[in-house]
Amino acid sequence: MAVLKKRFGQHFLHDEGVLQRIASACLAAPGEQTVEIGPGGGALTAHLLQRLERLHVIEIDRDLVADLGRRFPPPRVTIHEGDVLRFSLCEIGASGLRVVGNLPYNISTPLIFHLLDQPCIQSMVFLLQKEVVDRLAAAPCGPDYGRLSVMVQARCDVAPLFAVSAQAFTPPPKVESRLVYLRPIPHRIPAPDAVRFAKLVATAFSQRRKMLRHSLKAYFAADDWRALGIDPTRRAETLAFEEFAMLAAYRSPAEAGVQEPSTP
Ligand code: SAM
Repeated sequence: MAVLKKRFGQHFLHDEGVLQRIASACLAAPGEQTVEIGPGGGALTAHLLQRLERLHVIEIDRDLVADLGRRFPPPRVTIHEGDVLRFSLCEIGASGLRVVGNLPYNISTPLIFHLLDQPCIQSMVFLLQKEVVDRLAAAPCGPDYGRLSVMVQARCDVAPLFAVSAQAFTPPPKVESRLVYLRPIPHRIPAPDAVRFAKLVATAFSQRRKMLRHSLKAYFAADDWRALGIDPTRRAETLAFEEFAMLAAYRSPAEAGVQEPSTP
């Protein structure tokens, strides 16, 4: 077996029971296009292939790619060697893609943002650091709620699944792990509002303890807060994604081109 590389977040699963549960949580059915991110030594790959006729895998470590190619020859497994952060999964399938992986924890947040932009994905099942799953699923006002929670919940339904102990990995990571299921919901934020939504969320959470009337003063005046029906003394951490969506969709009367009726 190749030497494990820390820089690629290589903690390989060896617990057969855990591997089986992850493969079944993926819900992939024969005929559906499925992609595994970071197959490593192929432990999860083997379990996925018990359920699937074909599988795509994306792996950055070229030493592992050589071993994977010998163990899982084409056409059942298509190996894409490279960095998943630079890879468009929609090249594999235009729609209905199932994505699964025991992800390298050092890139999990940028990777989730990268995948949120890929409309071909039907579902994602990822083993992640437990703290990241807590943040993905957090409700407003809690300590784990933040920009990541809002941005992901605005694009996906989030369902935390089971916990996985560090002893299930070689070498055991220093953190706890948890499986999460993400189901993208298209158009939750209408496309014309998406850029403004991302900017508002980033600005509000860059000063999460400040009242909205201060943190978002470049965007909204007192009249706007009244028209929106949102109390401007609230803080970013109290707003659900639906409220950020209202802010992103809002146009002040001046922006919307509404003329004040002239007094006779
Ligand atoms: N799936 C295997 C398992 O469960 O035993 C390995 C999981 S290990 C946590 C993460 C895997 O992702 C490693 O094989 C690593 O080389 C690979 N990896 C790390 N960074 C990557 C990247 N940017 N693109 C693709 N694969 C990556």
